[in-house]
Amino acid sequence: MTIEAIPSFKYHPDPIGTGAIAASDQVCECCGKARGYVYKASFYAADEIDSICPWCIADGKAAKKYDGMFCDDYPLAEAGIDSAIQACDDRDRHS
Ligand SMILES: [Zn+2]
Repeated sequence: MTIEAIPSFKYHPDPIGTGAIAASDQVCECCGKARGYVYKASFYAADEIDSICPWCIADGKAAKKYDGMFCDDYPLAEAGIDSAIQACDDRDRHS
């Protein structure tokens, strides 16, 4: 499978580093494709969503479809990304 470069997010310069996006073969519930990555961070919507690909988030398809919003709409601190970065740093140090 060819893995495309993930889209860039304004408030998420390194979404894989923060764990917001992770490599996965899960199928995106929005576009129905397994594209190699899924979004792992919070998604605020009425429906329970298991897996969404970063492309559907980047182009607004997922937010429109599920009438929800992603923490990428907000600055990093509000989204709690700072602590996610720290957690990643700790993990790197101990491995
Ligand atoms: Zn998708």
